[in-house]
Amino acid sequence: MTDLSWLIDPVYIVTVFFFIIGMQRMSHPLTARSGIVWAGAAMLIATLATFFTPGLTNLALIAIAIVIGGGFGYLAAKRVAMTDMPQMIALYNGMGGGAAAGISAVALLGTTHAATGSLAVIGGLIGAISFTGSIIAFMKLQGWMRPRPITFPGQQVINMAVLVLAIISGILVIVQPAWLPLSISVYLPLFFVLSLGFGLLMTLPIGGADMPVVISMYNAFTGLAVALDGFSFATPNYAMVVAGIIVGAAGTLLTLNMAKAMNRSITNVFFGAFGATEENVEIQGSMKSIETDDVAVLLAYANTVVVAPGYGMAVAQAQQKVKELTDLLESKNVQVKFAIHPVAGRMPGHMNVLLAEAGVSYDHLFDRDEINPEFPSTDVVLVIGANDVVNPAAHRQGSPLFGMPILDVDQAKNVIVLKRGQGKGFSGIENDLFYRDNTRMLYGDAQESVGKLVQAVKKF
Ligand code: NDP
Repeated sequence: MTDLSWLIDPVYIVTVFFFIIGMQRMSHPLTARSGIVWAGAAMLIATLATFFTPGLTNLALIAIAIVIGGGFGYLAAKRVAMTDMPQMIALYNGMGGGAAAGISAVALLGTTHAATGSLAVIGGLIGAISFTGSIIAFMKLQGWMRPRPITFPGQQVINMAVLVLAIISGILVIVQPAWLPLSISVYLPLFFVLSLGFGLLMTLPIGGADMPVVISMYNAFTGLAVALDGFSFATPNYAMVVAGIIVGAAGTLLTLNMAKAMNRSITNVFFGAFGATEENVEIQGSMKSIETDDVAVLLAYANTVVVAPGYGMAVAQAQQKVKELTDLLESKNVQVKFAIHPVAGRMPGHMNVLLAEAGVSYDHLFDRDEINPEFPSTDVVLVIGANDVVNPAAHRQGSPLFGMPILDVDQAKNVIVLKRGQGKGFSGIENDLFYRDNTRMLYGDAQESVGKLVQAVKKF
């Protein structure tokens, strides 16, 4: 067969451009879908090019693995519900970390070079942590494990000890000192068992609702592990290096942005066991309920309505009904806008994705900074299943939410909150918005309540 291995590097360079175009297009909702296609095409081309590597063996095994993995990925992605997307991402990210750790293991078995060996050890450590950490994240989000932080005395010390032992065994894999009677066949498995164990231990004390931040962080880890693995062979694999760096950088930025939007430090997310305790604050006043017909009157005769959606809209899958209500109000010359908080829901862009799925156009969606100045002149705000992101406790010193940028819906003339009952938000903090004089509670499942509102508004 003709040797086409000279084609590999030029093809990898082309795929690098595809990855960059894909990433750039993913930065806007309108072009994001095509961004995924560009990046996917790059991955496919890079995988095909790898088949031209001289001396590649086990072709049948590789083909079987691709068919099983690709088939499973295709079917799972087709079937997954939008609300289950975070755990699917956790699982696939974990697979990436595991694959990177596997590549490190192979590289370490073959390397005699200290520099490439060190890179493979670091890649293996990070990849293994990402693998088991992502699996715990998956199990917590899927409800297969208690989502609350799992803590025990001396946890930080034990975790640190496991990490230090993992690093020491990694160093032994490279150095293999003559004065120790053991060999790489002991150090290597030990290194991976400890690294995998650290990923598990590090993720247990993190609460279920913080998992999207954790997944994003592990996503960055996986990228970094892949990039380091790309350097760990005698001839560097540039497609792995560049794709890994892009994923690592994007994951890091996303993690930092999410933490910033929640006003939490990364250390607090990873070591703060957020959600393990609940705040108990006495709030004056009472929650006042309202009937559907009364809300319908307010909406039908309003000039401006702002919808502030949150996690409850996602749980209730109310987005289609919300779109119906929006169309109906617009047909009555009511101006309707959506206020989108960056961490409303349970994953980045959660509200944008749901509303786009329901056909709400992007020009109806407004960021926190754009919409906040408009609340004082807004007639009605409909808070649909949102809680923490509209909680004025964020302005109260001492509250765990203190400093979190929120949607200032309490400034509007009328606030209608749609939720099922007295349930708290993810932070477990009471919301005094619900007790304010200009707030009324419309109790019930969000999909049902909005459905009833649509019928009621039609009467006016
Ligand atoms: P919250 O989790 O604060 O509140 C959701 C509210 O929805 C609850 O109070 C609940 O009240 C209500 N609800 C639940 N199910 C239904 C239903 N079927 N119908 C109507 N209402 C329902 O949501 P927010 O979106 O306001 O805030 C998100 C929180 O998640 C923030 O604290 C954020 O920091 C955090 N977070 C977000 C991440 C992201 O990437 N977006 C990542 C990590 C954390 P009730 O039970 O009474 O119905």
